[in-house]
Amino acid sequence: MKTHSSPDCPFCEPQSSSISFYKFREFRAIYNRSPIVPGHSLVIPRHHIQSLLDLSDDEIRDMMVFARQVTENLSRIFPATGFNWTIQDGAAAGQTVPHLHVHVIPRYDGDLPHPGDWYPRILKNEQGYIDNSDEREWLSVDEMGTIVRHIRDNWER
Ligand SMILES: [Zn+2]
Repeated sequence: MKTHSSPDCPFCEPQSSSISFYKFREFRAIYNRSPIVPGHSLVIPRHHIQSLLDLSDDEIRDMMVFARQVTENLSRIFPATGFNWTIQDGAAAGQTVPHLHVHVIPRYDGDLPHPGDWYPRILKNEQGYIDNSDEREWLSVDEMGTIVRHIRDNWER
């Protein structure tokens, strides 16, 4: 894995350290600053990697094993009975932050008007990291701190 970081990247340290709630090997889980539903988080490499295709087989395995652990914990904490995972890889696919991230979205019956409504919201969410749109609700620093503490306090391995 490459080890450089990008100063303008919202997912590189130290920018993301306050919203990071768990680490596993070369990956970390961070809470989304503008969650589309409660518990909406991201699993990211600790270093600035753009694409899933830049990871080794072992790193992909670590990322997916960690994403499962994150999903199990978030589903219990928030709580949820289903989940969505998604990766936008490359600008053509809607990736706006050039740092690989897996969205982990805990779901429960009736959380959105239609179960498929999560996807357009994700694309808007991705855009929000760049355009700072006022349309979308952003959590305050205090709200983020409370949620991140709550997740850490209730984490089970
Ligand atoms: Zn980065």
